[in-house]
Amino acid sequence: MKITRVETFLVPPRWLFCRIETDDGVVGWGEPVVEGRAEPVRAAVDVLAEYLIGQDPLRIEDHWQVLTKGGFYRGGPVLSSAVAGLDQALWDIAGRTYGAPVHALLGGPVRDRVRVYAWVGGDEPTELTDQVTAQVEAGFTAVKMNAAGLTSPVVTAAETAAVVARVTAAREVLGPDRDVAVDFHGRFSAAAARRVLAELAPLYPLFVEEPVVPEQSHLLPGLVAASPVPLATGERLYSRSDFLAPLTAGVAVAQPDLSHAGGISEVHRIASLADVYGAHLAPHCPLGPIALAASLQIAFATPNFLIQEQSRGIHYNKDADLLSYVIDPEPFRFVDGHAQRGDIPGLGITVDEDAVRAADRTGHAWRNPVWRHDDGSFAEW
Ligand SMILES: [Mg+2]
Repeated sequence: MKITRVETFLVPPRWLFCRIETDDGVVGWGEPVVEGRAEPVRAAVDVLAEYLIGQDPLRIEDHWQVLTKGGFYRGGPVLSSAVAGLDQALWDIAGRTYGAPVHALLGGPVRDRVRVYAWVGGDEPTELTDQVTAQVEAGFTAVKMNAAGLTSPVVTAAETAAVVARVTAAREVLGPDRDVAVDFHGRFSAAAARRVLAELAPLYPLFVEEPVVPEQSHLLPGLVAASPVPLATGERLYSRSDFLAPLTAGVAVAQPDLSHAGGISEVHRIASLADVYGAHLAPHCPLGPIALAASLQIAFATPNFLIQEQSRGIHYNKDADLLSYVIDPEPFRFVDGHAQRGDIPGLGITVDEDAVRAADRTGHAWRNPVWRHDDGSFAEW
């Protein structure tokens, strides 16, 4: 079997899909994308595809080595995301070739269902009580929310109180048996994070995510020591080596993104590395159906898995949502806040190719907003 064609599709709301075709007629799908940087990732996929054409798609690990390291210059979000999507598609082909779901090829299932959480609140959280109530009524046992919108370099008393009020509102709906996770989104300085983490501790968040931006990972040991709240990070880390410092610092939850961190091959290894440090895996996935399908395959095969993000109804999903490009929604039908394990070969979904090709003709140009403080200076989004 040889790879004969690699295509990419830029589809709303902000995703990029890839399709690898073989001379045996077996087709695999992947989702190589960085949100807001889809076009450079598409160009990177095109360059990497030059190598893949004519190759045996089942030599996944060898291809991962060449695609990741063969260009001499390596790493970073664009290249790692391009490799990630291609890697997902190769695993999809392998599963379809062997007649097995990817989790079976990763050592077999270690759980029967995967806990997922739902987003509430958007970037400027308001009316959280109603949103959390709706997610609880939909069966979810955990939600995640942004802590705050635009935030001062050192949080004020009012900003701190507003964060606490939002998380309190969520906790009051959830009760003690469900969970709320809080995403700081790298918007806080380390000083601000220390201050707010202490205030949030009595509300028992499941974890607090990206307490500081990834380039300040050297500050994580102090934050871990200062915070009884478990800390999480990883959506902007792209490899095992990127995760080493945060894990050594004592981060409790590793959040690699299946579409950013080298795909199924590398996230499987990141999970093993996290296990050495007693950390659990909660893959980042505010993305599309292929990224989520890949995430679920990892979740079914990973002992130290905690919880899975998913994007159904997320505020980013304008013009298309998680189910817009799949034939059968069943793999994403959540029962009591959990995805059920299936036995469909490959990634476990059937992509609606006609819908994808039609959407690509529209494309998208999604960019994240650029925020500024009152004085006009740049602010973290
Ligand atoms: Mg996040």
